[in-house]
Amino acid sequence: ALLQAEKYVENVYHSLQERNPHESEFLQAVKEIFDSLTPVLAANPKYIEENILERIVEPERLITFRVSWIDDNGQVQVNRGYRVQYNSALGPYKGGLRFHPSVNTSIIKFLGFEQIFKNSLTDQLIGGGKGGSDFDPKGKSDREIMRFCQAFMSELWKYIGADTDVPAGDIGVGAREVGYLYGQYKKLRGATEAGVLTGKRADFGGSLVRTEATGYGTVYFVDEMLKSNGHDFTGKTVVVSGSGNVSIYAIEKAHELGAKVVACSDSQGYVYDPEGINLETVKELKETDCQRISEYVSKHPHAEFCENCSDIWSIPCDIALPCATQNEINEEDAKNLVNNNVIAIGEGANMPSTLEAINVFLENNVLFAPAKAANAGGVAVSAFEMAQNSSRTYWSFEEADTKLHDTMKSIYQDCMESAEKYGQSGNLVMGANIAGFIKVADAIIEQGV
Ligand code: GLU
Repeated sequence: ALLQAEKYVENVYHSLQERNPHESEFLQAVKEIFDSLTPVLAANPKYIEENILERIVEPERLITFRVSWIDDNGQVQVNRGYRVQYNSALGPYKGGLRFHPSVNTSIIKFLGFEQIFKNSLTDQLIGGGKGGSDFDPKGKSDREIMRFCQAFMSELWKYIGADTDVPAGDIGVGAREVGYLYGQYKKLRGATEAGVLTGKRADFGGSLVRTEATGYGTVYFVDEMLKSNGHDFTGKTVVVSGSGNVSIYAIEKAHELGAKVVACSDSQGYVYDPEGINLETVKELKETDCQRISEYVSKHPHAEFCENCSDIWSIPCDIALPCATQNEINEEDAKNLVNNNVIAIGEGANMPSTLEAINVFLENNVLFAPAKAANAGGVAVSAFEMAQNSSRTYWSFEEADTKLHDTMKSIYQDCMESAEKYGQSGNLVMGANIAGFIKVADAIIEQGV
């Protein structure tokens, strides 16, 4: 049975490669999942009989559209917009929008594919989707951002809705952009439909804790993993990459739990502050002024700035939280971390470790919290926002935070149990992929071809 399962996985992957030869990020995300599924397919022949893998890797729908808008100089600019409605077996498509020049079909498909399993892990009955644009928000004025968001929504609005597809933020899309997108949706739709987007400001339907959710959730998950292995955050040295929304709240929670975060970064480099990163400064630079992280050093002269981003992984630390972007940790970075005796990795970003890097961590018994599970807190609180919107009730910060914490604990349990059941005890990569997969696969089969 195992041989038959291996052969099936290989065949589906091979034909996917042939049909999408240039989509390296997408193929990487699929490979990671497929590699975990052989034992599940071997034990449950119905998945092979139902050809579940081919059905799950093909998006239900992939929409691309032109976004034309006018910049501050009166010039017409054109970008490409995307929305992948990947899988709706568990509920409405759900997933963020990313505005970044690197956005292309491969990136959107890898993100959308991961989102299916991540969303399944939250137990919130949401399907998987993702979208975005190759628009670069860097250096754009607030008015340009607004006009771009309006132009983007003018194309996207007909495909989304509170019960069909619910976008939110991701890289380059925060509460400000969600506000502009929501305003435009409301004009076109001609009605208030609060649940069509999540990540809204709390004054018009957003959930408290949504801003903090991904970063807090990652630390909650890692804390669970540490405690089950006789460790905790107290007194630990932590390196967090990135300095956006995920990083900021991961730093905040890690500090709250008694750790010392000594470094964070942006696309231009990283800062190393041996006394512990001053989060107020980072928040000021990034949340209010949109400045570079290199400015940190002018306020804290004892800190160092270094331009080579990946050198951040050479800093000795007990816990590393990659919260920047995909493939930011390669095999060599992973080896550096291992040589410096890292205890645990928690992935706050989507797919921040390459497949080779993951293997280095697993082979060296580093506690490894994979993205799908560790960063699911963001989308979990998005689902809480949908629930609050449709019932017209609003939860306190404490209520939402407690539910987030409980969700992360239960995802951890779920992953551990699934890994154990399929003979992969302690391997959270396998556990997350298996637990996420089974719920979606069963729902697909039960709903018929
Ligand atoms: N972009 C986030 C993620 O990668 C959140 C998506 C959402 O809230 O829908 O999961």
